[in-house]
Amino acid sequence: MLSVHAARTIVLDHSWPLPPATMTLSPALVGQVLAEAIASDLDMPPYDKALMDGYAVRCSDLAQGEATLTVIEEVPAGRLPRKPVSAGQATRIMTGAPLPEGADAVVMQERTTLAGDRVHIRERPPQPGQHILRRGLEMRQGEIVLDTGVVLGPAHLGLLASVGRISAQLHPRPSVSILTTGDEVVEPGIHPGPGQIRNSNGPMLAAQVVQAGGIPRTLGIARDEVEHLRTLLRTGIQTDVLLLSGGVSAGKRDLVPEVLQELGVHPHFHKVEMKPGKPLFFGTLAQTERTTLVFGLPGNPVSSFVCFELFVRPALCRLLGHAEPGPVLIHLALDEDFSHRSDRPTYHPAALVNHEEGLRVRTVPWLGSPDLRGLTRADALVVFPAGEHTFRAGQVVPVLRLDT
Ligand code: AMP
Ligand code: MG
Repeated sequence: MLSVHAARTIVLDHSWPLPPATMTLSPALVGQVLAEAIASDLDMPPYDKALMDGYAVRCSDLAQGEATLTVIEEVPAGRLPRKPVSAGQATRIMTGAPLPEGADAVVMQERTTLAGDRVHIRERPPQPGQHILRRGLEMRQGEIVLDTGVVLGPAHLGLLASVGRISAQLHPRPSVSILTTGDEVVEPGIHPGPGQIRNSNGPMLAAQVVQAGGIPRTLGIARDEVEHLRTLLRTGIQTDVLLLSGGVSAGKRDLVPEVLQELGVHPHFHKVEMKPGKPLFFGTLAQTERTTLVFGLPGNPVSSFVCFELFVRPALCRLLGHAEPGPVLIHLALDEDFSHRSDRPTYHPAALVNHEEGLRVRTVPWLGSPDLRGLTRADALVVFPAGEHTFRAGQVVPVLRLDT
């Protein structure tokens, strides 16, 4: 059976950044990836700039540290100084204002006493450049300030604004269809009848898609019947990614793989050596305008969830243009002893614990792949190897942190 690593490699080999488009910059773009290098259109700061409220002075006047100088004008932010500062003079200046000619340092307001137009300064002898940000020191006009591949966060959006950008080339968010399957599955607003179960996977997967930066499109619940599945799948393959929940196990009504194949989806694998989530299906459908990635996720909620984190999220990261698609494993000490037995590597729900020696991890009570409630107590998954093992408190284990 395919290992998680090998399966992830296959998925990533078929996941490519979506073609860039010009987008108007807005907070909704946080997490999206730049598809162009951004150059500054000006020097920053555009002039020698005061970093403190105080007085612009000449260091030569303050060689002894103390002096009384004549105040020749006041320059608030947004105004330009009109008079050069000569020997024995100072200009009252506000944070952010341009430094007047002749001045080579700023002394803080707190070190001064003003009487009429005379200011008395008590300061250690200042160095030239004190409390001044020189023109162009942060960036020069024409200099590249953000590279292709940068993931936009709040600071990047601020920087784009400061270099005058209102739009940029970005990789778009992937569109993701979500189709739940199962004759027994009913919508959450309905009280389940005998043998029925509410659709928890649909809402959960839609939320995972949003967290991973995609745009979910919910297609509802397909009956375990070829005709109905086929109709809904035809809609589903019109997006960048199609997620199916259920119908991929070995049961008689698990029709998803055969209907997908009939629609032209090329199967890449259909089973991964992991727990939960073994029956995962992955295929691709090459179309003129796009290649759709198709994931058949096992119906049990925790299986669906874990398969999304291990395979779908990295694929979405790639489509978004991220260089490092994850998931990133960290290594933490167990907080308690734990015995575990399984025929496959297991992704066990766990909670991070703030320990005096640093972050640790503790498994949470969990009844297996149908137990979604157990998963709600978790903010991580611990990876345990196949076999029968007792792990001791303090032993270091691989951990996948969840987005909570
Ligand atoms: P399947 O993969 O279709 O064989 O489903 C495996 C198990 O997951 C069955 O017990 C289903 O009832 C359950 N299941 C399937 N789909 C969902 C869903 N959307 N929400 C909650 N449980 C589901
Ligand atoms: Mg089913």
